[in-house]
Amino acid sequence: MRDGRGASLLIIFGIRVFYRTIGQGAFHCQRCGGDREFRHLAGRRWFTLFFIPVIPLSKAGEHVRCTTCGTRYRMEVLSVPTAAQMQAALPAGMRAAALTMLRAGGGSSGSARRRAIDAIKGAGRADYDDAALDADLSALAMPGQDLAGPLNRLTVQLAVPAREWFLAEAVRIGLADGTLSDDERNAAREIAAQLGMTPAQARGVIAMTEEGASA
Ligand SMILES: [Zn+2]
Repeated sequence: MRDGRGASLLIIFGIRVFYRTIGQGAFHCQRCGGDREFRHLAGRRWFTLFFIPVIPLSKAGEHVRCTTCGTRYRMEVLSVPTAAQMQAALPAGMRAAALTMLRAGGGSSGSARRRAIDAIKGAGRADYDDAALDADLSALAMPGQDLAGPLNRLTVQLAVPAREWFLAEAVRIGLADGTLSDDERNAAREIAAQLGMTPAQARGVIAMTEEGASA
């Protein structure tokens, strides 16, 4: 009898998921508790022969992985703002609101401009000054368009009392050169709407701020 040499060939095959990076960026990692780099990974199942992928099969989903701790997250994690974005959102939102108020009226009034600069500085842009305001006011911009983006990003992180405080700050810029004009009142309502406030809430805050200014 001879050995069955050569007759037994072991074929090792299987199915494995392989991931490739299709994007990267910064996100807030809940595990690390801070802003970290992420990789956006897309998976695909492969038929493997001797551990080598040979035939691509179905897609196996996408996820985000923290490059620091390796934790995997669903894609939705990217909608949570990073700490850096949250920090930038308040001054960016206040700047957009202040410019909207000044464009509606008071852009050449010294007291309205001072009020606007103070509000933007108070929101975290310590270096904001007259020159920066002039540059912003002379920049060509669609009044509504550059208001929605910054305020919508800010709204995500502002509780209701903070939205009211924010709107009151903007209204005070309009009041700095006297009573609100129709344009300034409309600008305040637009700011309130972009902050997700109802018209009734907006009316209440505007009226209270007006009373406070005339008292
Ligand atoms: Zn992490």
